[in-house]
Amino acid sequence: MSTRLNHWIDGRSVVPSSNSYRTGENPATGGEGAEVALGNIDDVKSAVASAENAARGWRRFPSAKRGRLLGNLARVMREKNQELAELEIQDTGKPLAEALSEVENAAAYFEFYAGLVNLPVGDTLDVEPDQHIYTRREPFGVIGIITPWNVPLNQAARACAPALAAGNVVVVKPAEATSQSTVFLAQLATQVGFPDGTFNVILGKGTEAGAELVRHPSVRKVAFTGSVAVGQTIGHIAADRVIPLTLELGGKSANIVFEDADFDLAVKEAVRAFTTNAGQVCLAGTRLLVQRSIHDKFVESVVEAVRARIPGQNLGPIITRAQYQQVQNYFDVARQEGLQAEVGGDLPSDEALQGGFYVNPTVYSNVDNSARLAQEEVFGPVLVTIPFDTEEDAIKIANSSDYGLAAAVWTKDISRAFRVAEEVEAGQVYINTWSTGAVQTPFGGHKYSGYGREKGIESLNHYTHVKCVILAY
Ligand code: NAD
Repeated sequence: MSTRLNHWIDGRSVVPSSNSYRTGENPATGGEGAEVALGNIDDVKSAVASAENAARGWRRFPSAKRGRLLGNLARVMREKNQELAELEIQDTGKPLAEALSEVENAAAYFEFYAGLVNLPVGDTLDVEPDQHIYTRREPFGVIGIITPWNVPLNQAARACAPALAAGNVVVVKPAEATSQSTVFLAQLATQVGFPDGTFNVILGKGTEAGAELVRHPSVRKVAFTGSVAVGQTIGHIAADRVIPLTLELGGKSANIVFEDADFDLAVKEAVRAFTTNAGQVCLAGTRLLVQRSIHDKFVESVVEAVRARIPGQNLGPIITRAQYQQVQNYFDVARQEGLQAEVGGDLPSDEALQGGFYVNPTVYSNVDNSARLAQEEVFGPVLVTIPFDTEEDAIKIANSSDYGLAAAVWTKDISRAFRVAEEVEAGQVYINTWSTGAVQTPFGGHKYSGYGREKGIESLNHYTHVKCVILAY
């Protein structure tokens, strides 16, 4: 029998008021997955009411104790890393090593922000004699957090940890296909002593539970990670309600390799950049810009390395059936646009993988930057390579995109590295590395990749607002 997953409201498991559930799919087999509660407006109301009740107590909770709870949550997550990874694998099909690394990363958020609970501090301002002026950084209160299905636990932790550290309470709405690890996280929070109502999870469809959460008048800020289209919809609601919003949306990141790069390292990282999590990473390096003098040789080495990424072994499936279909649609688009597949562009023939949502890792070479596969986010292990001649060309191509999430530059010329890093329109630029960064590094986008920042100290500014107090004496 499959697992039945309920909301987590006010420190306990709550059956949806409609008593209806959605049966998920296991992406590795196509078989049945967890049954996930379908929340409606009444469920959202009770989750937000519970959060509101807890908000004042949590805001006034001694910060050292608050930090200790966050730290304890990180510790318990590490103790339960196998269980958390197992839930993540059931929902996403990702290989164990990737699931365990996701759990570790998620724990690291709570650990990092545990040490920063005293950081949102104000200033004193010397403006007039006989006046004392100071600012306070205050929490918003109830934060609505909506997350996608690609790295569900990581996305929940990335937003919840700083929000809670800064004194807010949270209501999280995970993606309906991948809710298990987020509910377990909330259970662990209750277990280590977070007061009831500080950490709530509401399950269900985005268009219902998600949209109601954004509309709820007591939700004072929303942090959304997901697609551009849904980000825009939520943006309209937030604009009507005049509440702040953090949008972490899609990407089509440029990975720029100059002829003087460390060839072998650049090849290895170029492959990692688009195959990690089967390419279902917002900042995936899916546009590989290579200087023409080394383009063909470089692509040949990339293709050779890609052949070692084997679906079902070290390459997980596409996480949802709809996205699996979407990636196959892009294979058709590539054929229609006459793109040259150096490897992949199809499904694995391995009998053992039948029924699962697997695709072969794919490289299209010599692609024009105007092609759909160079402009649109595929969200699968699909790479396009684009040759360029000069530094100026590379920057122009990199910036000719609606997105601006990440970019990398590979060169031994340090001046060029800095010039390109400055000119590229992206929220994070890597030089001679491709990394998802650490919890300490601020993360977010330009252009259609969104606004606001998660991670790092920077994130705390987005989960607090400034009050200025002016006293005359
Ligand atoms: P999605 O936008 O379809 O869904 C994201 C979340 O929004 C889900 O929980 C969904 O239920 C909810 N939702 C859907 N419609 C809603 C509505 N009308 N109102 C409120 N909530 C609604 O995204 P997805 O398919 O789950 O994830 C893939 C996308 O996420 C990709 O575009 C990817 O680039 C992006 N992403 C971005 C980052 C980042 O940090 N920038 C990280 C991961 C994924």
